[in-house]
Amino acid sequence: MNAHLIDLRSDTVTRPSAEMLAAMTSAPVGDDVYGEDPTVNALEEHVAGLLGHEAGLFTVTGSLANMLGVRALVPRGGEVLCEASAHIVRAELGSHAAFAGVTTRTWSAPAGQIDLEQIRTLIAPDLGPYFVITSAVSVENTHNFGGGSIQHSFDALADELDASGLPLHLDGARLWNAAVATGRTVASYGVRAAAASVCLSKGLGAPVGSVLVGSTELIREARVWRKRLGAGWRQAGVLAAAGLYAVEHNVERLAEDHANAQAIATVLADAAPGSVKPDQVETNIVVVDLAGTGHTVPEVVAGARDAGVLVGGVGATQLRIVTHLDASAADCRTAAEVLARIIAG
Ligand SMILES: *Cc1c(COP(=O)(O)O)cnc(C)c1O
Repeated sequence: MNAHLIDLRSDTVTRPSAEMLAAMTSAPVGDDVYGEDPTVNALEEHVAGLLGHEAGLFTVTGSLANMLGVRALVPRGGEVLCEASAHIVRAELGSHAAFAGVTTRTWSAPAGQIDLEQIRTLIAPDLGPYFVITSAVSVENTHNFGGGSIQHSFDALADELDASGLPLHLDGARLWNAAVATGRTVASYGVRAAAASVCLSKGLGAPVGSVLVGSTELIREARVWRKRLGAGWRQAGVLAAAGLYAVEHNVERLAEDHANAQAIATVLADAAPGSVKPDQVETNIVVVDLAGTGHTVPEVVAGARDAGVLVGGVGATQLRIVTHLDASAADCRTAAEVLARIIAG
């Protein structure tokens, strides 16, 4: 990738900083299949503690953490309910069905929000011999395809699930973004879920890794399934060190990403009124609807690339812009001006 390109396709595109690399090269390591990597153990314990859980499991991707988490809550042939554009059902290539025999029914709501009324009608704890049994509800916070939206009914859903005894799965790939934007702790979300995943390689800037958290028993079993899937690892402390560094240094600064996303949204809303609603941009993702602009997604993506700015298409008429720690406020201003020129032209 050209150094001068401003890459806003995703917050996964960040490179480890010199300080993060130094932490990686000096990390004590061991064989994690034997449970002997002190840095992996430290990361798992630290993240579990932050999320209010007993235990954690370091995984290579968020998809794997979600697969292991959902699998732990839903037996083969059971179902998990989630929003129709949730990552687990749209962007994990059917892994929950392919590997764990999990089926899904979905509700659909603007910005991927929790819709309590729809969820109540979907929940089927045991409707007799013809119906699949609901075993869990999964919620994504923030919601990726929902435009980085914060789940505003999170606690209300958790309360209802507590009352009905159904476990909550939390896809918290960007949970730190939700926490920083709302001023809540990640624990205040995490404790409500029976299993939760967080990504270290999104806004936090680590090159690799996610952590699944849950009870000691749930994580013990997830560890077996991780190995069963061929994803046990050895001296992974070099990677866990990056994750620890990220959690310790790169959380508070997410507020800058949110401010940069807000600035981009404001410029684009000025250039093409109606294409973006800045008040709906809650964290680090800006979704731009080109429908009313007379421009197509491929045209804008190509035009921006020619001007040194990378953005992605999501859907037939929508662009996605994601801010992150390798895109400065000045970079984001430049990107906004480039896009505004194209979209308004
Ligand atoms: C990125 C992401 C994941 C995990 O993605 P991987 O590419 O497998 O690490 C899970 N959920 C959401 C909401 C995400 O944005």
